[in-house]
Amino acid sequence: MLSSKGFAAHSAQTPLAPFTFSRRAPGPTEIAIEILYCGVCHTDIHMARNEWGQSMYPMVPGHEIVGRVAGVGSAVKKFKVGEIAAIGVIVDSCRKCEPCDRGEEHYCLEGPTLTYAAKDRVDGTTTMGGYSNNYVVDERFALTVPANLDLAGVAPLLCAGITTYSPLRHWKVGPGMKVGIIGLGGLGHMALKFAHSFGAHTVQLTTSPKKKEDALRLGADEVVVSTDEEQMKKHAASFDFIIDAVSAPHEMAPYLALLKQDATLTIVGLPERPPSIDIFQLISKRIAVAGSMIGGMPETQAMLDYCGKNDITADVEVIPMEKINEAFDRMLKQDVKYRFVVDMSSLK
Ligand code: NAP
Ligand code: ZN
Repeated sequence: MLSSKGFAAHSAQTPLAPFTFSRRAPGPTEIAIEILYCGVCHTDIHMARNEWGQSMYPMVPGHEIVGRVAGVGSAVKKFKVGEIAAIGVIVDSCRKCEPCDRGEEHYCLEGPTLTYAAKDRVDGTTTMGGYSNNYVVDERFALTVPANLDLAGVAPLLCAGITTYSPLRHWKVGPGMKVGIIGLGGLGHMALKFAHSFGAHTVQLTTSPKKKEDALRLGADEVVVSTDEEQMKKHAASFDFIIDAVSAPHEMAPYLALLKQDATLTIVGLPERPPSIDIFQLISKRIAVAGSMIGGMPETQAMLDYCGKNDITADVEVIPMEKINEAFDRMLKQDVKYRFVVDMSSLK
């Protein structure tokens, strides 16, 4: 057994607090990592506060993990002790179904094992996430990290990065396309960086006028304040693709009005209440509303390699673990540029 320490939520109403627990020693195909950095995803807030109604406590959140390999099982091929490894939102799957065979383990027919607050397939315990000093994972679900990238900036790629990279690739975003990004938060700023890097004409849609300069710096060709009807009208029926990365309930109609005929709006944000969609708006332009969840292991590795080649990381504010509750509060006030990342050396 490995002894672990981290920060846990003990109920939906109480702040995260120090917590000790244990993890199994790595099996033959598993590695143990010492966590260096863990990003703070809005999902961690939804989960810690039970906004989706399925939370289990105590809960150690965190699924944007970068660390150093501290131990390897006897059959591990991909990693050696001392190397850097990363872990994202899933840590296991059935490994037998069609999606798993295709490397789309996140769409496993039996359901993937989530990095935290899920039943572990190996030992039946509840998975504990990356707001902690170590993790044990099968090497199939661990990623290698390009050596040129800053590790704090890499951590958010494991969720915010792949969750936006995957749909932008799936819907073939590239040159000649006008692409909208709704919400400039952790996911939104990565969607903006990727869409810009893929050569699309990018438009950041934001409720925060003060984020305009940052959006332009992060790769936006244009910035639209979505609460300003006049600005929105100018872009009516002009977008080929829109990605919605908003964490709070919001109206869809103003955004669907921006799509061209046959265009798609893909939702990645997961507010506590689902959006209502006007079917007349859909049929009048044959438009589609879609959803997308993270990405499989091969695509997550491809995303990290792409980031290495193109020098892409998240814009981060590094915080010590004891500031996590403050970070949650600031995220809810849209006050983060553009991802908090916990430096796990602060746990020592
Ligand atoms: P975040 O950093 O807190 O950013 C959310 C952004 O949403 C804010 O920066 C803000 O952008 C916008 N926003 C917030 N409240 C709003 C409101 N009332 N009306 C309109 N816009 C509002 O959150 P995140 O970590 O990027 O996560 C975003 C969502 O994606 C969360 O719901 C999370 O659970 C979900 N998620 C989904 C997946 C997946 O696989 N699909 C993976 C990870 C996360 P502006 O200030 O620019 O308006
Ligand atoms: Zn996440």
